[in-house]
Amino acid sequence: MGNEQEFQDLLQHIAPDPDELHQRLRFLGWRQTDNERLSRCAQRAEHANQHFVDTLYQQLADYPAPAAILGDPATTERLKQRQADYYRGLWQSPLDEAYVLERLRIGWVHQHTGVDLKWYLGAYRLYLDRLLGELLGSSVASDCFSSLIKKVFFDIGLALDSYGAAQRKALQDSEARYARAMRGANDGLWEWQLEQDQLYLSERWIRMLDLDRDSLSPTSQSWFSRVHGDDLPGLRQAIDNHLRGLTPFLNHEYRIRRQDGSYLWVLVRGVVEICSGGLRRMAGSQSDISQRRAAEEQLHHAARHDPLTGLANRARLGELLQQAMQRQQRPGAREAALLFIDLDRFKLINDSLGHQTGDRVLVEVAERLSHCLRPGDHLARFGGDEFVALLDDLACMGDAERVAQRMLDNLHVPLKLQEQTLAISASIGIAALQESGQPLDPLQAADLALYRAKSAGKAQFARYSNELQQQAQRQLELQNALAQAGMRHELHLAYQPICQLDGNQPQLIGVEALLRWQHEGRVVAPLEFIPCLEESGEILAVGDWVLQQACSQVRIWQRTGQPHLRCSVNLSSRQLQQSDFAARVADILQRTGLPPSSLVLEITESQLMEDSAQNLACLRELASFGIQLALDDFGTGYSSLGYLKRFPLHIIKVDKSFIAGAPQDTESLAISRAIIGLGHSLGLAVVAEGVEKQAQLDFLTSEGCHYAQGFWFSRPRSPQELQRLLSGEDCFDGLRSPQDEGKPTPEVQT
Ligand code: C2E
Ligand code: MG
Ligand code: MG
Repeated sequence: MGNEQEFQDLLQHIAPDPDELHQRLRFLGWRQTDNERLSRCAQRAEHANQHFVDTLYQQLADYPAPAAILGDPATTERLKQRQADYYRGLWQSPLDEAYVLERLRIGWVHQHTGVDLKWYLGAYRLYLDRLLGELLGSSVASDCFSSLIKKVFFDIGLALDSYGAAQRKALQDSEARYARAMRGANDGLWEWQLEQDQLYLSERWIRMLDLDRDSLSPTSQSWFSRVHGDDLPGLRQAIDNHLRGLTPFLNHEYRIRRQDGSYLWVLVRGVVEICSGGLRRMAGSQSDISQRRAAEEQLHHAARHDPLTGLANRARLGELLQQAMQRQQRPGAREAALLFIDLDRFKLINDSLGHQTGDRVLVEVAERLSHCLRPGDHLARFGGDEFVALLDDLACMGDAERVAQRMLDNLHVPLKLQEQTLAISASIGIAALQESGQPLDPLQAADLALYRAKSAGKAQFARYSNELQQQAQRQLELQNALAQAGMRHELHLAYQPICQLDGNQPQLIGVEALLRWQHEGRVVAPLEFIPCLEESGEILAVGDWVLQQACSQVRIWQRTGQPHLRCSVNLSSRQLQQSDFAARVADILQRTGLPPSSLVLEITESQLMEDSAQNLACLRELASFGIQLALDDFGTGYSSLGYLKRFPLHIIKVDKSFIAGAPQDTESLAISRAIIGLGHSLGLAVVAEGVEKQAQLDFLTSEGCHYAQGFWFSRPRSPQELQRLLSGEDCFDGLRSPQDEGKPTPEVQT
């Protein structure tokens, strides 16, 4: 039998509203007089009622279904008593709200007990039949009416059959539709009565996890005990949020354990409903989302890893870095470091052996670098030929240096790729993940250290220091300031005389143009800022300007009394690499009017090395115009005699470091002597640089060196100062002023 709560729930669906009751009674023609009439006759019916109950129960006992419900004699007696009470009430009780409620309750009890409607109807028919006889007695009319009642009740039964069948059919259809939809959606269903902790799970819900219903208890334990430990708090929170009205429905993804112990990703959706009595019931669906999850995870992985090497990519490195930085904040955290690794000359491998080989090298390098790491460290491909290693939990930064050294050693072993053996090397920058006073983020710091390792000759590691950063900062400031130097007219040229040593007195035969930068009240030396100009590429524009300026100035001096004065200009290798450089020089010569034979272009050995094919072509073209080419700072670089033959050179300049040692230092002396001899035997003019003393000059003269340059004769001078020398107004130490009466007054260009 159902409980009271169930009946109360049911009432919400069946209790007709007052209007409906009113309509029903009106159609039945029920009036107050009916009530009174029945009450008046109640006494007369009393005996018939009792008699009828006996007859009814006797008759019911003949049919197995009602007989089974009647049960033992005591129950039957109790039921009969209730039945008699009911008939009494039928005559006496007013047709009020309590009466309606009681009838509904009895109907519900009977339905629950399994009393079929036909017994109900049959009993009423019998009752009416009995009461008809009792009240009217037997007559042809009452017999006829009795027959009519039988048929009417039979008809009512059939009508109820039709109504009921139609309703059941509609319900079945809707259930079948629902079941089909559910099968199509492939979702499991659940319903959970929270207060009673009763859980209903659909067949699909259970099969999704390969479980069988018998092994599950009908409580929420069957559900929650299978949820992945990491996901349970989240699921509970999501349910709680919904119950507290924070979310319109439950919608949560989590992992749940299958029969075989593996976990399945599912999406649970549901909504709570408050039932009568304030009890809460949640119901919803659960779908298998493992395929979607797997695809998402694959995408997620692909987005954070490099497809070539399988290493973490830059995005993933960012995450790892952030986590490592957070770990660094914790008290007692040990050191952590970043290694920024860049292959040396990788572009050469790619360009000369093809990208496929390049790729294989990268895979092999990734492998070798990985071998140098401990579990817990991470290696990422930052891009191209750049890798970043994140080393965690180090005792000291020295450990990071040891790892870097191990990497260099591992890479040093020649790489065998089928038909080729390749020598590879890398440069590594090291930075601590967290260092007090470090203004850069660790990646920038490691990158800066890498830059230092590269510029110090590659195939080595360098560690970040604040001093390094300050240097870089200064460099940057310098670069910024330099970028505007041209516009602000801060660049100018100084000219240093070059002398011929034949005869008694050294004779000024040329000048070397030397670039000066007047910056914030001081003159910045070219060695400080020319590398900057080269790096930014601005050396091209500045170089053009120097050439133009020097040629033009020397041409003026030529026209005003020094017709044979030569003009030496220093070149940067980047200038030579321009394919139209020779044409540009020709253009400048043409515009300034300086004869090509008056121009000397100075190149250093290291510049010649950089891209010899292009350099060679360019130098040949320049030489073909009649321009003189000088090899500057000879002896400081590779001093390859090959260059002297291969390139169309006319002059070699002995570096000042050898002259500085002469004549006391025998080694410098020997080298200077050898270079001078070499120059002569190759038919090249030799200029000695950096002559500061009479003794050096004497030595050079005795060696037959024809040309010299140095502070002994003159420091580099402004054009105005030099002009005073040329015009005889001034005279410098060691240098005879080339005064010549009657010459036009020399000028200085402005
Ligand atoms: P360099 O071409 O070898 O120029 C000679 C350098 O030696 C100059 O230094 C000059 O001031 C210095 N010097 C001359 N006589 C003496 C001496 O007796 N003793 C000492 N100790 N030094 C002496 P500076 O002007 O600082 O130039 C340095 C270098 O900068 C030059 O070396 C040249 O390679 C480069 N440079 C200068 N101007 C230019 C330019 O316009 N373009 C390019 N690309 N490089 C330039
Ligand atoms: Mg020079
Ligand atoms: Mg030099």
